[in-house]
Amino acid sequence: MNWRKLTAYLLIASMTAALFTGCKKEEPAETVPTTESTVATTTTSVETTPETTAKVTRSAEEYKKAGINELNSVPILMYHRIYNMKNSETKYKGGNVDKDGYNRTSEAFEADLRSFYEQGYRMMRLTDFVDGKIDVPFGYSPLILTFDDGIRDVVLEGWNDDGSPKFDPGCAIAILEKIKAEFPDYNVTATFFLNCQLFCNKEEDDKKILKWMVDHGYDIGNHTYNHVKLGGMEADAIEKEVGRMYQLLDSIIPGQYVNIVALPYGSPEKISDDKPQYQKILSGTYEGFNYTTKATLLCAWTRSYSPFVRDYNKTAIRRIRAYDNGGVYWDIEDNFKQLNNGKRYISDGDPDTIVYPSEDNASGTWLKETYGHTAIPY
Ligand SMILES: [Zn+2]
Repeated sequence: MNWRKLTAYLLIASMTAALFTGCKKEEPAETVPTTESTVATTTTSVETTPETTAKVTRSAEEYKKAGINELNSVPILMYHRIYNMKNSETKYKGGNVDKDGYNRTSEAFEADLRSFYEQGYRMMRLTDFVDGKIDVPFGYSPLILTFDDGIRDVVLEGWNDDGSPKFDPGCAIAILEKIKAEFPDYNVTATFFLNCQLFCNKEEDDKKILKWMVDHGYDIGNHTYNHVKLGGMEADAIEKEVGRMYQLLDSIIPGQYVNIVALPYGSPEKISDDKPQYQKILSGTYEGFNYTTKATLLCAWTRSYSPFVRDYNKTAIRRIRAYDNGGVYWDIEDNFKQLNNGKRYISDGDPDTIVYPSEDNASGTWLKETYGHTAIPY
């Protein structure tokens, strides 16, 4: 058995074994060697689309062994507030801080991150996902974190001598930074969707924090100026809510925020031509400030389609509510059980190719958008 097959076996074994086994600290067995070379042999059973240049670096057997499938689904987690608490300090189960589990303890959040890592997920930026640029190592799966509302996600304690912010150790950003230092290959990143109150620290502090965040691998998106339900609103009111928030972000971090809206309350569920006012979510002008939105996110409940498939809709991207409900009804455990049971996107390691089992596109209609990448069925 060569190392690549061994890696694939270990990966599959590890995925199975690692399902919610808690917070083991050791490096998982599936770490892919960095000195990996590519081979162009044994490609006879791999087909490429006729109009593109073949860019096959692995055999169909290798793809199969590792379960490579880039038409499968991607978890985009939706978090809200992270409280500096132990799970035992809340009235609710599994790290939920409130009855519905919108808010999570720092203990549970950190355990989530460790668990996803052990299961072979690696983070990527939401904005890259929307652009069809999925750059995750061979055999691993993409994972995207989002936070809505900005409340208690970045809790400032003060400023270090070097000018960097000092965070409350239990807030989201502090835990993300801790995990980033511990697992350099996790590619820790997240997108924070804000309203006019930003992170609810002092305004001048939040402005400095936003700059620090975009310089340190995090993204900032639009959650409307006043956290309003856009569904049912008139065009000019929508334009004001969306445009004013973009304008605010542009005044603090010009050109460095992402043009993505997380729809408060997931509303409207559909941005379609029969409701022309909703087009103002996608483009408009507020007080002379022009904006465009390249994607919008729903509130919950499940994994997102791959951006390459027919049912993916960039104006209704689905997310997983990051909560605990005993492993049922679309909580984290339920969603990851389904993902790990044949639904997860597993990367071929090359962001310029889309690799998938040919039977998954047997109808010829499931693969819809290639973003200029080379499609490689096997
Ligand atoms: Zn919200």
